[in-house]
Amino acid sequence: MQNKHTCRTYKYKIRNHRKNKKFGNMMDDLADVHNHFVRLEQRYYRIYGKYAGRYKLQPHLTKLLQTTKKHWAWIPRDTLDAVIIRIDTAYQRMFDGLGGRPKKKRKGKYRSAKFQSGYKLENGRVRISFKSWNASKQKLVFDRIWFSFHQHRDWNGTVKYIQILRDSVGEYWLYIVTDDTSTEPFAATGESVGIDFGLKTFLTLSNGEKIDSPEFLKQSLSKLRSANKSVSRKQKGSNNWYRAVLELVQLYRKVANQRLDWQWKIATKLCRKFDTLVTETLNIEGMKRLWGRKVSDLSFSQFVTILEYKCFKHNRTFHKIGQWTSTTKPCSDCGHSNKNLSLSDRQWICSECGSHHDRDINAAINILRAACYPVVEQM
Ligand SMILES: [Zn+2]
Repeated sequence: MQNKHTCRTYKYKIRNHRKNKKFGNMMDDLADVHNHFVRLEQRYYRIYGKYAGRYKLQPHLTKLLQTTKKHWAWIPRDTLDAVIIRIDTAYQRMFDGLGGRPKKKRKGKYRSAKFQSGYKLENGRVRISFKSWNASKQKLVFDRIWFSFHQHRDWNGTVKYIQILRDSVGEYWLYIVTDDTSTEPFAATGESVGIDFGLKTFLTLSNGEKIDSPEFLKQSLSKLRSANKSVSRKQKGSNNWYRAVLELVQLYRKVANQRLDWQWKIATKLCRKFDTLVTETLNIEGMKRLWGRKVSDLSFSQFVTILEYKCFKHNRTFHKIGQWTSTTKPCSDCGHSNKNLSLSDRQWICSECGSHHDRDINAAINILRAACYPVVEQM
């Protein structure tokens, strides 16, 4: 889903095997590479008052690989370059006010490696060209290793690059990124919808429909809470603690997958039903202040990203209305603003026109309307 629909990512599970350790070793070395260049950038900035871009860092890497960092040379060069390019991009984003300063990473926290060349894809197998030191030839020789993955579906388009990712449980995934941007248009329905996000109900639609997180997800979330407590009760570093931590991360992964799966299904359902879909621009910080930590449990931003992608894929119109548009307080029938509305008021009656409102449905109607014309707020 990167680069706003100019490419498409397919995700496959790499089968567990002893040789997957090679990926683990590589990511540990990539963490070293990352930290080395982040430190270098910081030093460069202290001396020159600006950052060295990738075109200064890449030749420097070439030198390092021949001198003090020969032990990095077994990793494909474009994979090493990708680490530098990522740091470079992070600095660019920082200058554009889009992100923070790149930080150093602990080993084990560096979780991805990009391959632009030096790999080969076959049915259910991927070959990576590492290098290894050949003592008799006194030089680096290619060490090509096949890894098999579970190819549950085919990919479309031309492969641009692949990525290997390590998840929190320590298992490996293959991401195949292609140039596929084909769409599968759904038949027009003539229907539009406004979508409101909520703490009590996950989604409320302007037609009055309410979509809540399914029971199984709620159960998993409460299991997650007790697994968290179980970890904090154990003595840190003990065998029992490690076991509890492993259970916790496995559970985290399961809940994340369940939620993702469910969100894709809901997004597909909405796209089938409506031609135009309107949501609010999320103000996550504001939601956290208002609702507390639970916002991250619900992961609204992930859902919006999925919905936006689905709308693109199925030729639907997707709108986000401005963050500061008032959608809760105005009456959707007459526009009168209910200044006394508090967070606990789930239902209310408009003092102007006497309409009876469900708080979330009223908001969803206002969201849909704001996409067509601004909500009129009467004083
Ligand atoms: Zn009214």
